[in-house]
Amino acid sequence: MTDKHAFQAETKSLLRLMIHSLYSNKEIFLRELISNASDACDKLRFESISSPELMGDAELAVELIPDKDAGTLTVRDNGIGMSREDVIEHLGTIARSGTREFMSKLSGDQARDAQLIGQFGVGFYSAFIVADKVTVRTRRADAAEAVDWTSDGEGEFEVAVVDKSGRGTEVVLHLREDDKEFLEPARLSTLVRRYSDHIGLPIRLRNDKGELDTINQARAFWTRPKSELKDQDYQSFYKHLSHDFDDAVSWAHHRVEGTLEYTSLLYIPKRAPFDLWNREAHHGLQLYVKRVFIMDKAAELLPNYLRFVRGLVDTADLPLNVSREILQGSRTTEKIKAALVKRVFDLLEDLADNKPEEYAQFWQTFGGVLKEGLVEDPANQSRIARLLRAPSTKEPEGARVKLADYVSRMPEAQKSIYYLTADSLAAAQSSPHLEGFAKRGYEVLLLVERIDEWVVAHLQEFEGKPLKSVAQGSAELEDTVETAAQAQAESAFKDVLERVKQKLDTRVQEVRLSRRLTESPACLVAPDFGMSRRLEKMLSMAGENMPASKPILELNGEHPLVARLRECNDEALFEDLSELLFGQAQLAEGGQLDDPASFVRRLNRLVLGQAPSGRIIV
Ligand code: ADP
Ligand code: MG
Repeated sequence: MTDKHAFQAETKSLLRLMIHSLYSNKEIFLRELISNASDACDKLRFESISSPELMGDAELAVELIPDKDAGTLTVRDNGIGMSREDVIEHLGTIARSGTREFMSKLSGDQARDAQLIGQFGVGFYSAFIVADKVTVRTRRADAAEAVDWTSDGEGEFEVAVVDKSGRGTEVVLHLREDDKEFLEPARLSTLVRRYSDHIGLPIRLRNDKGELDTINQARAFWTRPKSELKDQDYQSFYKHLSHDFDDAVSWAHHRVEGTLEYTSLLYIPKRAPFDLWNREAHHGLQLYVKRVFIMDKAAELLPNYLRFVRGLVDTADLPLNVSREILQGSRTTEKIKAALVKRVFDLLEDLADNKPEEYAQFWQTFGGVLKEGLVEDPANQSRIARLLRAPSTKEPEGARVKLADYVSRMPEAQKSIYYLTADSLAAAQSSPHLEGFAKRGYEVLLLVERIDEWVVAHLQEFEGKPLKSVAQGSAELEDTVETAAQAQAESAFKDVLERVKQKLDTRVQEVRLSRRLTESPACLVAPDFGMSRRLEKMLSMAGENMPASKPILELNGEHPLVARLRECNDEALFEDLSELLFGQAQLAEGGQLDDPASFVRRLNRLVLGQAPSGRIIV
């Protein structure tokens, strides 16, 4: 009995794309099929923990069988196999989650695109790059019947029930005329050594004499002694594990024996995975128990803020039937996790100290994730703070300062670490709040990521120096020399400030003379305690229902516009000026005007020097 099925539309375009645009990287099909065979063996090993009868006697292995007469290459495994439903679901009609995502990431650069295939769970289809017909014959370990899946990759596939003696899967590739090179044993073993050497089970190639030669190391990579492994080996295992096409930045391979027994292999990647910021996506390490693959993306082994770390843990201290629930409550997991966190910090500190440029690149890519740790992991906060990097008013464009350097170059009079949060670097750099600090030679950190609002709410000090916002509170910038003059100015402006407050009425909490402005006439600041203005804005935009707090309007007594206020006797003009100062302070912090139309009218009146009652011709 044979039935025909149509490929789902996206699968169809994916196939077309594979066949026609990845021809210069054909060879990756072998890596993908071997990786599937190895996954299938892992799954069998795992299922046989609860159903030991599934395993049988045969050693798990992958075989490559080139047949020159038939023009076929067969990739065979004795892993878990597939049922009829599995075949239809995994190799055909139902859109695999990765398909659309994969297509949207394609760049047209063949080498790069070829590398993406495994990452998105569409590797099987790469078979059609070299084959004009593919037959998959498979029997699930616990099923009586086997199935054949056949397709020419054009639009349909056929599924038939067949006989097959052993469990597992055989993928038969009918090679295209131009791709017969993949029948050559020498070519195949080179490819296996290049791409699949680290797979933990034997890969056997049937040679011209009909014998099977094991052509890879066939040992779980991480069980091999460090002394035997070269950088290049670590990199190639990294690519296998992560499906990344770039090298890893660094790694740590540890074998621990004693009260706990485990091996860990952790990598810091160069590039962010496409779903780093996707809240639904799972991240985490692979977990093995005594070499048996247990689960992918075990989030319990590292905190969420280290989700960019790739790698694995293989332990003898967890039961083979460990589930996510057990992992969550386990003391063993907690202990391993604490040790892994330290290793990641060691890796990052080492990178920061010894390869600052690579660290800068790392920070650019993953700094936003690592910062979450400042909020979520108080116990490690000071260690993470040392890894923090931020743009500042004293750093050139694109560069970032570390807190230790910031502190070491603070002028003697400066007591706090100052920062400004803003929506963009440009907005931060032109903020009036910086003026007084610049004049005094105080460096200000420019924090422009959304998470920074939470970071500064949690990171209160660094090496004994408090962190303070330049846009909040009174900004302790009093210099002794200025105090007398300031007191004088304050009394001179007392009435004016009160009048401005009356005009703006309920919209501001207070109007006062500023110590932080030197050039701009006005700015808004938040009260000493409580939320920053930006955090408030972010929360209300996120739909958080909360009473808006009122800002403090600060005026620069030395600015001509403010001086003009003092001399102004015309009530209407005074109102125009007050509104204008308030409005521009709102604009300067990237805010919106309450009533843009009347702001514009007032502005035009003042520019044209017209009396407020006069008619405006615009
Ligand atoms: P991925 O391996 O990322 O899931 P693939 O396109 O490579 O994506 O494979 C699709 C699915 O087909 C696999 O997830 C698996 O369920 C099934 N499959 C492919 N090859 C085999 C095999 N040799 N044995 C068992 N199942 C397989
Ligand atoms: Mg695969």
